[in-house]
Amino acid sequence: SRTMNAAAEQSPFVEQVKVKERGRETRKRTVKDFFFGRTLGEGSYSTVVEATEVETEKIYAAKILDKRHIIKEKKTKYVTIERNVLHKLRHPFIVRLHYAFQDKQSLYFILDLAANGELLSWVRKYGGLSEPVAKHYMAELILAVEYMHQNGVVHRDLKPENILLGSDMHILIADFGTAKLLGENDGSRTNSFVGTAEYVSPELLMDRQEANIRGSDIWALGCIAYQLLAGRPPFKATNEYQTFQKILKNEYEFPPHFSVHAKDFIRRILVLDPNYRLGCCFFKDSDPDTIPNFDDLKSHPFFTGIDWSNLSNSNPPQMS
Ligand code: ATP
Repeated sequence: SRTMNAAAEQSPFVEQVKVKERGRETRKRTVKDFFFGRTLGEGSYSTVVEATEVETEKIYAAKILDKRHIIKEKKTKYVTIERNVLHKLRHPFIVRLHYAFQDKQSLYFILDLAANGELLSWVRKYGGLSEPVAKHYMAELILAVEYMHQNGVVHRDLKPENILLGSDMHILIADFGTAKLLGENDGSRTNSFVGTAEYVSPELLMDRQEANIRGSDIWALGCIAYQLLAGRPPFKATNEYQTFQKILKNEYEFPPHFSVHAKDFIRRILVLDPNYRLGCCFFKDSDPDTIPNFDDLKSHPFFTGIDWSNLSNSNPPQMS
């Protein structure tokens, strides 16, 4: 069609010729450098498969996106954002983009392999996690989100489906397709709703122009903490509209087994006004660049016993 050709001529997928690594230029990889194996998962615009680098025999996850499909569905912007954001972030708890290349038909992102799948599957398998396990994974999550925010990236779709687990059972946050790079105008309204109904913050629903979107990532952290312990998200209804109503009324209940500290931690995050949300207390609407005070989250008694400086080197507690 006319539009598709026009879009294709603009060549939205700019080839990056070389990746600089520790000051040395690394050779540009191509499809021929990898052996593609079993399918790990399917997204709306991608297929993720195991990929072994022929030269090193290292195993990665290859996210393969069909260029024509992406152009047709007008998703080039999201793909570009994901590539740019992943390229920028280097953290043990965030999926790393090792190589990006393309052939005539597809784009290839070569990523850290999350061999143990989605945290959501584990939460479902155990019907909720024990408090020591949930506490550990919340701590990893907080460190990863703190790092993102410090680097100007807001995820905007944090949920247990997008929290993957590596072979060592540490988290690898994935899916930066709806992320926002602060300070870069990509044409999207910063506070437009792009995430998932169950985790969206009340201020985004109320369409407050001045909403500080970093606070919405924090809200999602509260929803995730609840879900890890309860086995289900705090705000869930038969349809999105009903879910939104519950969020706006802050209507949720704790199962009886939640500890006092767990309840207090979640209650202090799931506060409708982002200015009074834990970690967000010094947000000023006039200053969109204020970073959440992650120390307020970390020092909550829920995290008693967590060794923050040693999390990535220590073994996560056994799932139960
Ligand atoms: P959508 O874009 O429709 O929201 P999605 O974000 O799940 O879908 P992808 O990020 O392409 O789409 O992931 C597709 C599937 O592949 C998911 O089920 C995910 O668990 C899996 N997956 C994604 N990245 C990795 C990875 N690095 N290692 C292992 N599995 C992965």
